[in-house]
Amino acid sequence: MKLILLGTTGYHPNAHRHTACLMLPELGIVLDAGTAMFRVREYLCTTQLDIFLTHAHLDHVVGITYLLDVVRDKDMRRVTVHATAEKLAAVKNHLLAEALFPAKLPCEFKPLPRSVALASQGTLTHFPLEHPGGAIGFRLDWPDRSMAYVTDTTARADAPYVEAIRGVDLLVHECNFPDSLSELASRTGHSVTTAVAQVAQEAGVGQLVLVHVDPCAEGSDPLNLQRACSIFPHTFLGHDLMEIDF
Ligand SMILES: [Zn+2]
Ligand SMILES: [Zn+2]
Repeated sequence: MKLILLGTTGYHPNAHRHTACLMLPELGIVLDAGTAMFRVREYLCTTQLDIFLTHAHLDHVVGITYLLDVVRDKDMRRVTVHATAEKLAAVKNHLLAEALFPAKLPCEFKPLPRSVALASQGTLTHFPLEHPGGAIGFRLDWPDRSMAYVTDTTARADAPYVEAIRGVDLLVHECNFPDSLSELASRTGHSVTTAVAQVAQEAGVGQLVLVHVDPCAEGSDPLNLQRACSIFPHTFLGHDLMEIDF
């Protein structure tokens, strides 16, 4: 199965990274709708699109407003935005308030039940994450593979969510900052390198891909990948348009 990282930063885009958006094109599944959401159009090959939101911070939802172009001239049977009822209300009442976005979007909004059935006998479940205003992480299981998406939280090897992601083949986890900025990370509800690698190690995942990388970070190694690999060897730095087979 193929996962494409359409956007791998948070807060705001930069010259190389757009904000949070992941896609499983074969299944028509999108996780978060940041500024990279416009790229979904290029990969869309299903007649239904299911968009799951971790929370309603702008860097994860602003792309909902791009849907008119994402599905323009496409023959869509259904487009559904899934999130907790509280976050859906925030999107509808604020992001889609008439003064901000007066057009009607070609989608329906659906509060997340405990689990959602996916194509290919899959199941999506969610679990709470600590973050200002609250967020959720996702776990997607199929009979022969699994993945988890954890973003916008402060990683800790003893955090309750570690149990929820145990043993997944692929963990996509935020890592906004290197270890040197751990004070800023906890103040803003984000993660640093060592803690994320420790989570992957503790949860016994197959591979770890780091996303939601600080848009102000410079250079090709913003997170000290060697440090991460010394704790969890199968760690990779995510980049926009990276395709991962799992
Ligand atoms: Zn974010
Ligand atoms: Zn956030």
